[in-house]
Amino acid sequence: MIELNDITFAYEAGGFTLNAGALSIAQGEKVAVVGPSGSGKTTLLHLIAGILVPTRGKVSLDGQVVSSLSDKARRRLRLSRMGLVFQGIELVDYLSAKENVLLPYRLNRGISLDDKAKQRAEQLLQRVGLSEVAGRAVSGLSQGERQRVGICRALIAEPGLILADEPTASLDEASSASAVDLLIQLVEDSGSTLVMLTHDKVLLPRFDRVVMVDRGAVSGGVS
Ligand code: ADP
Ligand code: MG
Repeated sequence: MIELNDITFAYEAGGFTLNAGALSIAQGEKVAVVGPSGSGKTTLLHLIAGILVPTRGKVSLDGQVVSSLSDKARRRLRLSRMGLVFQGIELVDYLSAKENVLLPYRLNRGISLDDKAKQRAEQLLQRVGLSEVAGRAVSGLSQGERQRVGICRALIAEPGLILADEPTASLDEASSASAVDLLIQLVEDSGSTLVMLTHDKVLLPRFDRVVMVDRGAVSGGVS
């Protein structure tokens, strides 16, 4: 599903370079990306998401070379095919949990916000134990609750690919384990592919494969 071929990426500011020989991830695979802070994990995820484009080499998604598309086309692809769970989950504070979950429908003109989507939002929120607060503004929710809203939002439009950047970094151990359990369960139910960055070793047995990033070098890329 995802192929990276001989990638080099350098930030314009310089100082850091990421190199990945070959990285291929199959449909439905659950991949953990580990490595010390500053090693390039987020950079790698942004290359897969098409937020960044490599300085050299190609990133493909289902045979399509994403890295040669325009900014606009990459954004469209991201909205239609990917669910992103990032570190500082960006929820819209004055909107309710349910409205936040349904945000992709407002951003992506390719899908319509119908009753089915609304039902699915309710089901997801129930699944993560947030039925009670579904109608409440997220500004009043705890960090753990917000994280779960973010997970539901990433999954609402049934994207084939879920990209998660240390989604548990701001949670305590117990809520972190349950948030990841939940994410993995939902991903397994939908047959989606999951790429998740983590530095939590406890979580690794839940994944099919572990990719390592160390000082900009990616290894463990081929299954
Ligand atoms: P990780 O996610 O593994 O902690 P990152 O991919 O965020 O690592 O960062 C890798 C390196 O790239 C770090 O040294 C970081 O300081 C640098 N870096 C990250 N973003 C930028 C940027 N926008 N411009 C220049 N350097 C950056
Ligand atoms: Mg990071």
